[in-house]
Amino acid sequence: MRVRFAPSPTGHLHVGNARTALFNWLMARNAGGTFILRIEDTDVERSTDESEASVLEDLRWLGLHWDEGPEIGGPHGPYRQSERLHLYRSYAQELLAGERAYYCFCSADQLEADRRAAIAAGLPPRYPGTCRRIGAAQAHARVDAGEAAVIRFKVPDQREIVFTDLVRGDVRFRTEVIGDPVLVRSDGNPAYNFAVVIDDALMDVTHVVRGEDHISNTPRQILLYEAFGFTPPQFAHLSLVMGPDHTPLSKRHGATSVAEFRARGFLPEAVVNHLALIGWSPGNDEELLPVEEMARRFSIQAVGHSAGVFDVEKLAWVNRHYLRIANPTRIVRLSLPYFRQAGLVHEPDAQGIAYLESVMPMATGSVDRLDEIPSRLHFLFAFDARDAVTRPEIREVLGAPGAREVIHALAEELQEAGRLDRESFRVVAGRVKQKTGQKARHLFHPIRVALTGEAGGPELDVAVPAIDRGADLAATSGVAQIIGCRERAAEFAKRLT
Ligand code: GLU
Repeated sequence: MRVRFAPSPTGHLHVGNARTALFNWLMARNAGGTFILRIEDTDVERSTDESEASVLEDLRWLGLHWDEGPEIGGPHGPYRQSERLHLYRSYAQELLAGERAYYCFCSADQLEADRRAAIAAGLPPRYPGTCRRIGAAQAHARVDAGEAAVIRFKVPDQREIVFTDLVRGDVRFRTEVIGDPVLVRSDGNPAYNFAVVIDDALMDVTHVVRGEDHISNTPRQILLYEAFGFTPPQFAHLSLVMGPDHTPLSKRHGATSVAEFRARGFLPEAVVNHLALIGWSPGNDEELLPVEEMARRFSIQAVGHSAGVFDVEKLAWVNRHYLRIANPTRIVRLSLPYFRQAGLVHEPDAQGIAYLESVMPMATGSVDRLDEIPSRLHFLFAFDARDAVTRPEIREVLGAPGAREVIHALAEELQEAGRLDRESFRVVAGRVKQKTGQKARHLFHPIRVALTGEAGGPELDVAVPAIDRGADLAATSGVAQIIGCRERAAEFAKRLT
C-alpha cells in the first residue's frame, strides 16, 4: 500500500486536512505501507515557503512522519510539484501528440461570455469546446508565434464514469457534464487535476484518500489515467469536518489550524486521538486510544460517510486524559513557555526543572490544557497576605468561628519548625488542632488560606511540602522566589490584626 498526503502550501494546516493526513498515515501504518508527503505548490501566487515549513512542522508535531517526501527524499522524488515541471511538460506533449489534448486560445472574457450564455440557456456552465475545432498544425503555429494558450484535455462524450469509493460506495458521473479541463495553464504550470494524476501514477500511489471537496475532480482524473494507460488507484473521499453547529469548521468556530491548537496548550496525542474519531470508530464506544492502537485497528472501510464534528470541549476532555498520564518531564518542557509568559520561570537550571517536575502532578490532574498549568501553580510562586485578606472568598474563611485562632496557632507552631514535609506538616496540623479544638474543614480551611493565600487548590499535604521545597531552591534555579510556610504563616497572622 502506498498512500500520500498532498497539501497545497497556502496557509496553516487546517484540522480537516490534518485528519486527512492522519487517516492516510493510519492506513499506511496499519498495512505496513508507505506514507508519502507531496507538496502541491504549482499555484505560484498562493504558495509560500513559510506555509510549507509550517505544514511540515505541524505534521511532525502530530507525529505523522512521512516515509518519502520533502527533506528526506525517496525513490519517487522530487516530492515538490514545482520541481517536477519537466515531467508534466513531457506528459502534456504526449497527450497533444495523440490528439487527446489541444491548445485553447479562448480569452478570459470569452470564457465568461460562454459561461453566462450557458447559464441563460439553462445548461451547466462548462467549457463549450470552442478550440477543439482548431487544427493541430494551426494551433502549433499560433503557439510558436507566441500566442497565449492553455492545454485542455478532450473529455470523451457520452460516457459514464463509475468508481467505487471506499467510503461512499459506487459514484457515477456522466461525461456530458464535464467540460474539457485545463491541464496546463498559459504560464506553463500544470493544473491540479493533471499534476495530481501524473504524480499519483509515477509515485505508484495505490489509495487516494482525500476530502470530499475533490469528489467531482475524480472522474476527470480517471479519464486521464485512462488516456495514459495508467491503472487508477482506489479512491476514498472523506466527509468534511464540521463545527458543533454542523456547518464546515471555519474561523467562525474559533481556532481551525493545528498551529493554533498547539499554541493553546493541547497535546499532539490528544489532537490525533480526537481527529481520528471524527468519522472513524474502533468498532465500539472507546474514546481514548493511543495512536499505535488506532493504527492496529484502523480501516478506511470503517470510516463513515456522514460529516463528523470537531468539538473543542471533547478535545479538552481528551487532552485532560493525556496530560494526566504524560511524563512530567515532558510536561515541564512543554509548559515552560506558559510559565515564562506568566513571569514565574525564566531559564530554569537542572534544580529548577526537577522542582517543576515534582510539583507538576498537582496541576496536570486538574487542567484541560498546558496554558492553564501556571495559574494552578501560581500559589507556589506568589504569596501576598495583604492582598489575600481583602478577598471575599478568603474573608469568608476567616469569618468562621475559630479560624483566626487556628492561624495564630499555626504561625506559632511554625516559628520553631524547620521546612515542612508531608509528615512534619501532619504533626504541626495535629498540634494546631489540639491547641484550638478545631478540626476537619474548620482546621484545614484557615491553614490553607494562610499558607497558600487561596481558598482552594491542591491537597494540602502535597501543596505544603511543595511550598517548602521551593523555599529552599537556590536563586540560580531560574524559578521565581518561593516564600516558605513559616514566613507565610507569620505574615498572614500579622495581617489578621
Ligand atoms: N493539493 C490538494 C489539496 O490540498 C490535494 C488533493 C488531493 O489529495 O488530491 O486539496
